[in-house]
Order: sequence, then structure tokens, then C-alpha cells
Amino acid sequence: MAWKRKVEELESDQRLLPELIEAIRTGDNNQVESLINLIRSSTSHEELVGHLAANFSGTVTSAEEDEARSKASTRQQSPSSQPSRSSRVFQASSVPIYSVPAKPWTTITDDDVLVSHLLSLWFTWRHWWYPFVDRDALISAMQDGKEDDDMCTPALVNMILADACFDFDNLDEDNINPSMEKSLQDLFYEEAKRHAESTRTKVSLPWIQFLAIQWQYLQNRGIERLATSIMQEMLYVLRQYDKPSRSQKPKTRRGKERVSGAQRILGYTSWAAFVSTTAATFAMRNHPLMEPPVKDKPVVCKGDFGEAWLPYPREHPPVSAHSDCHLHYLSTLFEICYNISQCLFVEDGPRISPTTRDALEELHRDLTTWYGELPGCLEVAGVKAPHTLSVHAQYHWAVLVLSELNFTLQTDDEDDATVELLVPVVRAQHMTSALAIADLVHLQSVYWGVDHIPISFLEPINAALAVIIGDMEAPERKSPFVKLAVALHGLSRRSVAAESMLRMLRLTLRQRRLMSAKDVDNLFKDASDHWEASVLSPHVGVATASDATQFGEAGIAEETYDMLVEKWDQFSLGAPSSSSSSSS
Ligand SMILES: [Zn+2]
Repeated sequence: MAWKRKVEELESDQRLLPELIEAIRTGDNNQVESLINLIRSSTSHEELVGHLAANFSGTVTSAEEDEARSKASTRQQSPSSQPSRSSRVFQASSVPIYSVPAKPWTTITDDDVLVSHLLSLWFTWRHWWYPFVDRDALISAMQDGKEDDDMCTPALVNMILADACFDFDNLDEDNINPSMEKSLQDLFYEEAKRHAESTRTKVSLPWIQFLAIQWQYLQNRGIERLATSIMQEMLYVLRQYDKPSRSQKPKTRRGKERVSGAQRILGYTSWAAFVSTTAATFAMRNHPLMEPPVKDKPVVCKGDFGEAWLPYPREHPPVSAHSDCHLHYLSTLFEICYNISQCLFVEDGPRISPTTRDALEELHRDLTTWYGELPGCLEVAGVKAPHTLSVHAQYHWAVLVLSELNFTLQTDDEDDATVELLVPVVRAQHMTSALAIADLVHLQSVYWGVDHIPISFLEPINAALAVIIGDMEAPERKSPFVKLAVALHGLSRRSVAAESMLRMLRLTLRQRRLMSAKDVDNLFKDASDHWEASVLSPHVGVATASDATQFGEAGIAEETYDMLVEKWDQFSLGAPSSSSSSSS
């Protein structure tokens, strides 16, 4: 009971900080001064919450209303109220960050808490990598409950809910029921498609966003060919929508605000589409499909705190996050990747066009300059949110791909002396990037657990693994290998695309006789056990081992992440027989 009380205390502490920040940000000077005086007079938490509720509208009041509403709704799940199949197994342990109604958006469930939970998961773990929709605009449209072809449609909402199911763990008391979560995902997807088929306005922002998320969804489900054709359709509609002739001429002030709001969102959607399509073609060493948008990038901060990011549904003090800076720098990075792709890949496949060493060097310089100019809010120092770690992983991935091209390209200005000097430098760059990706994956797993690794890590992890297993003789390579392999396994639990990469890895390990079959099986069995423990525990990942054991929860931290890595980074190389297995 003691730890339960502790968890409740933590939950209320966790709410208090963002509310305080919000109050300081929005309150006038007098209000903020009285708030600070109150804090200095060592007031209790309850009094502080009461003061915020009474003096700062829109901070505690709305949050508490949400909480009350959610709790009431959770309690209502008695058999007599005929809950839907999904709400019977769904037990919210945390109050969703965003509170939205199920109706009129979906007919799959009438459970507002479930829909709010899914939406909170989606904005926490997925939306950052592909911010095709504007979060605040979508949530406020959903709360208003009015279907609107300009902002929010049932097709879009159901598509987001289907995509959110990748992160949905159906915790049925003490075990996970994957078949149930899968069918919920299918139900949302089918409903999204039903709405899409009857959509009349096919050149609209929600339609572009629907296609963009459908593309990511299909990619994750491993349905690649259809995913690619949906991506192309999305780009086509985006071009149609963005034609200058289409720009509306508003007559009223309200109309002007609406159009400028839509233009701002179109800017985000366009840059998000540019980043994700360029990443997709870059991974396949293909010519890029979309030019950098002519729209302004999101404006970067001037060193302010930003917004609070929480690893929902886990308890953890919020970390500072800057979504605009994130998209801004991701966009500039992928402009360089676009230039690399333009310069080195051709339209009809991976055939490489002739280039010069100087051009390659210049592209590499662009990347390092970009890295050197990252602002403080996107540096890795301190505990950072997954998407910040992901930005760095994208950078190291780009360096890795470029240095790989340096090995394989026949350049116009080749001479043996230059090549001789160049090879060790490029080889070092190549390995350094792979090891840096392993370090980032390690931070992600320690801070936030192995069960919610952003899907944006997939290509960097896969590329880094290929480099490291090509050079496993050195003992210090084993630990990065294990970190990357465990992370790929974590991703494979939520993505079919990652699952097939994992299968390839297992095959390569055996073919090259790097690990015995028994060791391969045992490593991934341990990774699997750790993944499930991580999902079931509200603390794994977000707390250090010593913090976690304070809770005394049964089944927690039987094997923390570090123990898992330590156990496996001593495995014996080669696969002569199963007797040399290091697992015991
Ligand atoms: Zn910033």
C-alpha cells in the first residue's frame, strides 16, 4: 500500500510542475509575485494547488476537471454500463495528458478515456518524428466536436488512433494480450478507411495529413509497396493544395485569421512531409521525391524553457522540449541529406552518379557545421527527451551513409595517394558514427525504457549494426552491439518493418558465425523478457535501479537494462559449438 500512496503522490507532484510553469508564464506580475511569496512561505502542496486553482484560470482548474472526468469515466466501467470490449481490458493507470471525447469521431469505442489515452500516447511517442498535424489545433477541434473539412475529420482521427495502437499496451492485470490490441488497431484502421472512401473534399489539409499518417502506418505494418504509393499520393495532393491559384482571399478578419492559421499548419505539414519522405528515400539510396518547401521553417526559441514533455503514461518529472526547434533543425539536416541524395543517387535505383571527392568533403562539412550550430535545447547533455536523442541519431546516420559512399564511389578526381590518405580517416568516421548511435540508443533505453524507442531510430540502428558486426573482433565492440541489438528487438515488438530487420540480423549473425545459435536465441529471449518487464513496470527506464527498488514492487527490476547489457557484452565470438555459450 505504501508504494501505491507514493505513486499517487508522485502523480500529483508531476502535475504540479507544468501547472506552476504555466502559471508563471501566463500570470501577470502581481499574480506571479504573490505565487512566489506563497512558495517561499513553505506552503503545503495542497495549499499551492488551491492557490493556483483560485488565481490562475486554465491551469489547475482544467487539469483537475480532466482528472475528475477521467476518474469518473474509469470508474464507470462497471459491467452494468455495458462497456465496449476494449474498455473492459483497458485500465488507465495514469490520467491522459489530453482529454478528448470519443464521439462524434469514432464508433469503435464510446470510451472517452481510451481515446484520450491513445491520443496522449500518439503525441508523446510518435507525433514528434512526423508532426504532420498541429497538436493544439487538432485537440481543440476534437474537443469542439464539430466535423470540419479544414481542420479535423473522422477519417483523420481514426487514422491517428490506429497509428497510436502501435504504442498501446493492453495491460490485462498481469499479462499482455496482443491479439486484443491488434484487433483494436484494425478496427480503427477500417473505420478510417471507410470515412476516407466517402470523403468528398480530397484536396484539403486533413486529407493530406490522413494520407501521411496512413503511409507511416502501412510502413510500420510492413506493407511497403502500398505505403510507397500512399506516400506518392500524399505528395501529389500536397502539391495540388499548395498551388498559388488555390490561395483563398478572405474578406473578414475572422476569415483572415483562419487562413493564416491554416497557412502556418501547412508550413509544418510541408516540412514534416519533406523530412519524412527524404528520410525514406535516403534510407533506400534513392533520388529524393520532394524539394525543400518554400515555406518558412518553424521559428527557433531564444533560450526559453519550452514545453514540458512527459513519458506518458509513466511517472517522471517533465523534461523541457522544443517542438519548433526540433522540426526546424530536423528540416535543415534533411536539406543536407536532400543535397547528398541529389548529388549521389539517381532516380531509377541505387546506381551512383559520378562525383568528386571535393563534393563529398563539402557535404560532410555541411553536416558538421549543422551539428556545431545546434542550440542548447537540442544538445544531448542532461536527461533529454527521445526526440532530441533521435535528432542526433539522424545526424550520425547521415555521416555514416556519406562515409560509406566514400568507400564505394568511383570519383572523377581519383588518385592513389589521396585514396591512401583518405581511407583510414573515412573508416574512423564511419565507425565513430556507428558507436555514437549505440551511445544514443543506450541513453534512450536508460532514460525512457526499451519499450518506446522512437521509430525514427530504426534506420540509424540498422545502419550502425551493419558497421559494427563487420568489425566485431575488438572486445569493446560487443557492448555497442548488444545495445543496438536490444534496441532493434524493442522496435520489432511494435513494428513489422523492424521485425524483418531483426530477422536479417539473426540470419547474418549465424551466417557469419559471429554467435552460436543458442546465444542468439538466448540474447533475444532475455531482451524479450526485459521488454515485457519494462512495459509492465511504471518505473523501468524512467528511474535508476536504486530508485526503482525503493518501490519494492514485485516483478520489477529483476533484470535492469544495464544488467542485460553487462550479461551479454562478454559473449564469445564465433559459433564453434553451443558449449561456449555465455548465457547461463
Ligand atoms: Zn529551442
